[in-house]
Amino acid sequence: MRKKSIKDINVENEKIFIRVDFNVPVKNGTIQDDTRIVAALPTIEYALNEGASLILASHLGRPKGRIVSEMSLKPVKFRLSELLNKDVLFAPDCVGEEARKIAENLKPGEVLLLENLRFHPEEKENDPDFSKKLASYARIYVNDAFGTAHRAHASTVGITHYVDEKVCGFLMEKELKYLVDTLQNPERPFAAILGGAKVSDKIDVIENLLNKVDKLFIGGAMAYTFLKSMGKNVGNSKVEEDKLSLAKEIVEKAKEKGVKIFLPVDNLFSSEFSENGDIRYISVDEDPPDGWMALDIGEKTIQIYLNELSDCKTVVWNGPMGVFEMDKFSKGTMAIAEKISQLDAITIIGGGDSVSAVHKAGVAEKITHISTGGGASLQLLAGKTLPAIEVLDDI
Ligand code: AMP
Repeated sequence: MRKKSIKDINVENEKIFIRVDFNVPVKNGTIQDDTRIVAALPTIEYALNEGASLILASHLGRPKGRIVSEMSLKPVKFRLSELLNKDVLFAPDCVGEEARKIAENLKPGEVLLLENLRFHPEEKENDPDFSKKLASYARIYVNDAFGTAHRAHASTVGITHYVDEKVCGFLMEKELKYLVDTLQNPERPFAAILGGAKVSDKIDVIENLLNKVDKLFIGGAMAYTFLKSMGKNVGNSKVEEDKLSLAKEIVEKAKEKGVKIFLPVDNLFSSEFSENGDIRYISVDEDPPDGWMALDIGEKTIQIYLNELSDCKTVVWNGPMGVFEMDKFSKGTMAIAEKISQLDAITIIGGGDSVSAVHKAGVAEKITHISTGGGASLQLLAGKTLPAIEVLDDI
């Protein structure tokens, strides 16, 4: 999957269509978190310095093919303009005469931001005519929107059939470097930590990583399906009854492959799914009181996981160890976040809730790579390709 990057082509005096991920949270016209805009700056600034003119396109929210003013990209135009310290032009519709004219008259160093692609149903339908209209702005296409790379939409796949050159931006390149290249050739010991709500969401990831890792740590609600499959009493903890035999098979497969698989030896149980109930650490060999549920991994488990992570040289983490949104049940997740940040290793956070966890723990700067895409990163961790990357030019 060696794909060309913007650095591999000449962009001087060219018009470039860049698919970015500006899907930022906006409340009453104010951007709540500009991380995604900042993440796209290296590609944008590089292209401008090289003398290109840019047409930027993104989606924001889920307007379902209609114009929804709260999901306009207009606030992004202003923030981007501040960050770039230059005027950013804006087209109030991503297709049509007005956008076409502004794009046509762009000079080197100028930037046009198009309105929300998903105001048109044709975007998600990967409609060929709509794709052609988007492609008509530029000869070169750059995809820097990792978060939507697992979707075959007009701006991520369709458009690539109608441009001369199609390459990755720097953000996309970095995601592929860590979520594909590093996983193929990891420094060992290589560990994966998987948690979160369901085994069913992560079966493909577990199966793929079993072929690569030396150690696999399981936490979160997922762990209780595994523990129940081994005959442990997990009380009212979240369990996927239809995945019990699969969980058993995974443990057996891990043994066959020589992967050390770690499951909790104790858990923090609560009498109810809230912070107001009674709580107690309970070993997996003891029976919890009637109706109680496990909402975090236990203290002994945390110690074992931290010790076993100490010598690891590559670590991939996806999914919290407990209901970390509630402080009482966040200890396991926070301990893992802190430990990972202290390791002398390549550390990769595979999107989703573990990203919030490393931010909550205040250790985000010490992580080698924090993925910007939840669904897309899970697909790569499962060893699959992404439709929007497959269509880019090979080196
Ligand atoms: P995922 O999106 O699959 O990574 O799952 C994340 C969600 O799993 C979070 O909202 C957690 O609150 C939830 N979760 C983690 N551990 C547990 C648990 N022991 N019981 C119920 N939910 C959990």
